Amino acid sequence: MINRKLALVIALSAAAYAQLPQLSKEVDAAYPAAQALYLDLHQNPELSSHEVHTAVKLAEQLRTLGYDVTEHVGGTGIVALMKNGDGPTVMLRTELDALPVEEQTGLPYASKVHAMDDSGREVPVMHACGHDLHMAALAGTASVMAKNKSSWHGTLMLVGQPAEEGITGARKMIADGLFQRFPKSDVGVALHVTNALPAGQVGITPGIYNTNSDALKITIYGKGGHGSAPHTTIDPIVIAARTILTLQTINAREVKPGEMAVVTVGYIHAGERKNVIPDQAEFGLTVRTYKQEIRNQVLAAIARIVKAEAAGGGATREPSVDRDAGTDAVYNDPALAARLRTPMEAALGKGNVIKTEPITPSEDYAYFIEQGVPSLYFSLGGADPDKFAQAEASGTQLPSNHSPLFAPDVDPALRTGIAAEVAVLRNLLNTSRGEPRNSIGKQ
Ligand SMILES: [Zn+2]
Ligand SMILES: [Zn+2]
Repeated sequence: MINRKLALVIALSAAAYAQLPQLSKEVDAAYPAAQALYLDLHQNPELSSHEVHTAVKLAEQLRTLGYDVTEHVGGTGIVALMKNGDGPTVMLRTELDALPVEEQTGLPYASKVHAMDDSGREVPVMHACGHDLHMAALAGTASVMAKNKSSWHGTLMLVGQPAEEGITGARKMIADGLFQRFPKSDVGVALHVTNALPAGQVGITPGIYNTNSDALKITIYGKGGHGSAPHTTIDPIVIAARTILTLQTINAREVKPGEMAVVTVGYIHAGERKNVIPDQAEFGLTVRTYKQEIRNQVLAAIARIVKAEAAGGGATREPSVDRDAGTDAVYNDPALAARLRTPMEAALGKGNVIKTEPITPSEDYAYFIEQGVPSLYFSLGGADPDKFAQAEASGTQLPSNHSPLFAPDVDPALRTGIAAEVAVLRNLLNTSRGEPRNSIGKQ
């Protein structure tokens, strides 16, 4: 463990010197404004679909840099274009939204914001997923690209997407003409900050990057009655309980060992009183998978088990299975991932570009890919390198995204995010029009 820690420290120090001197200077020049934006956004987070001030702040910075900015795309979304001669169109995307989480980091710039959520409840708000860092990185990158236009040619399309956490924003932007009113991107790029890597590093996952997500609401119909007379009822709570236990066998007995599948029952609602058997029970699931065929298998197994358990319990009618909008796994074009590794290594140092395993969360970037935009969605190290090394040595976990304690090591993470984005964009924007799509991986 000590050797590993030492190796990490050496890798990190090597990285600092390995950064391209010119790029490092450009990042230095863009950094103060990006950091100021980060601190502002972090202290003023806004909930999904309510990113009004957030969008204005980002739009203003981009407009000042010379971008042609359109606001209110798919709600509070923004699109900023910079046309710089002939070449492909490359999209760089950030999310805008924060979460209903009460910040407990104790940082001097911790959020103290409360706001009304869509159900009218007052909730605390925090950038617990790190989207403030993504916006600041995009703004810093926008600055470097705008001030060094001789280093690229083509069209840079910056997208600020609302409501990622609710998995609705990408679809709304697409429905509002993202790729009709604005140029259709040849390639897309996005990043996500994570404590699974130390600040200074980035992770590339070729192929499947995260999970398919499906949300199900299941209702079991029984026959209510007096709690003292169960023989006169059909108890939906007992059927639901049995169903939930049988669902656990999908993973254990049906899915091939080694294949990723998560079936989590996140809530169960049934009944009001101790002595009343209700006439229905409802529970909600989230299902996560990497592969489409496993997704189909698991969803079919859930439907079969739910129906069979209800029939076995004598339910008065077939249970209902309602599927909320899910999202597909983000797929990193393997050839694109291989191609962009080289400029990232040149920018950050070879040891700082790590091949990472797919992760279990989901997100709606997949909708952009489905529009025919091959993409690289990479991970940005967010953890304080010392804390990361300590956690590795002791086998503990640092707070994950969405935790009230999530606190990226801003300075190195933000600088690395900008450097990586600029390196990737310059590589993509130094090809002829259409070339990235047709010749991905041929370099
Ligand atoms: Zn999130
Ligand atoms: Zn996120």
